[in-house]
Amino acid sequence: MKTILVIGASGQIGTELVAALRRKYGSGKIIAADLKSNSNTFSEGPFLPLDVLDKETLGVQVIKYNVGTIYLLAAMLSASGEQNPHKAWHLNMQSLLNVLEVARECKIEKVFWPSSIAVFGPDAPKENCPQHFKLSPTTVYGISKSAGEDWCKYYFIKYKVDVRSLRYPGLISHQTLPGGGTTDYAVAIFHAAMRHRFYQCYLKEDTLLPMMHMEDAVRATMELMEAPAENITIRSSYNIASISFTPKEIAAEISKHLEGFEISHVPDFRQSIAESWPGSIDDSDASFDWGWEPHYNLKRTVSVMLENLKHLRPVNTSIY
Ligand code: NAD
Repeated sequence: MKTILVIGASGQIGTELVAALRRKYGSGKIIAADLKSNSNTFSEGPFLPLDVLDKETLGVQVIKYNVGTIYLLAAMLSASGEQNPHKAWHLNMQSLLNVLEVARECKIEKVFWPSSIAVFGPDAPKENCPQHFKLSPTTVYGISKSAGEDWCKYYFIKYKVDVRSLRYPGLISHQTLPGGGTTDYAVAIFHAAMRHRFYQCYLKEDTLLPMMHMEDAVRATMELMEAPAENITIRSSYNIASISFTPKEIAAEISKHLEGFEISHVPDFRQSIAESWPGSIDDSDASFDWGWEPHYNLKRTVSVMLENLKHLRPVNTSIY
């Protein structure tokens, strides 16, 4: 078996995807690559310090490690992207173009690259946003994901590069903190709840957004990559969905476990980003083509998150 290279391996998704891939295919076969390492990616298998913007080095390493599959996770997310639009565009586009070119030149078997629900704009249906609704994003992050989807399709049609993609919703995980997205509150709320029994949310209480527990997201990624190529009818990126909730709804669910937990709301620039996205997503193409189905609802997500974060001790809450 050839090796699997995961670029951006030390981030929120990479940390858990690398662990799942190592469990399935063996530690030695999964090369975690990133600008920086973390204890998971570094200690449990090969780690490669890599800047994906350096295409020449990427190509050399792909040959050296006999890479057959690349997962590209390095990107700048929506909230950070709005603070640094040109840097976000450069990283998000050039990383993808480098990987697609190396995949073409080195005859890589499969490439995974994540898109996002951020490809949809304010005109998209708020409820059950369809797979093929036109993309009109209003954030630089969404613009880069929309253009990236076109590049994936282009490389598939023109060069037969087997590139596959999912439009992730906001992802909820306990292992690694999220890296600058608009949905980060759905992780931060658990840490604040455990430590302070209080969370100040940067979104309004009724802001509905599509979300997913990380275990579902990692499983979806691996199932998509294992599906027979002929089943993959969408070569831009698949809608996938599991749960949609508002800050008020997740706070109410947390309160069932943590007596006295309170939330307040001070919306910032992320409110308008959230309002430009759909509240829920129609993922019937993913279900039909490769059997996608979520395993986590809100109740299970909250109880699993709190269970995994129970080591976080409450700190002095008087300053809150
Ligand atoms: P993250 O910010 O947590 O991790 C990204 C990783 O990429 C970081 O470890 C960073 O060090 C690394 N990186 C940055 N620049 C690099 C470079 N030049 N070379 C090598 N590594 C570099 O991001 P994430 O949340 O894990 O997201 C991964 C992918 O999934 C991204 O494409 C993101 O757009 C997409 N996505 C994430 C979410 C989410 O909720 N987390 C939702 C939708 C889509």
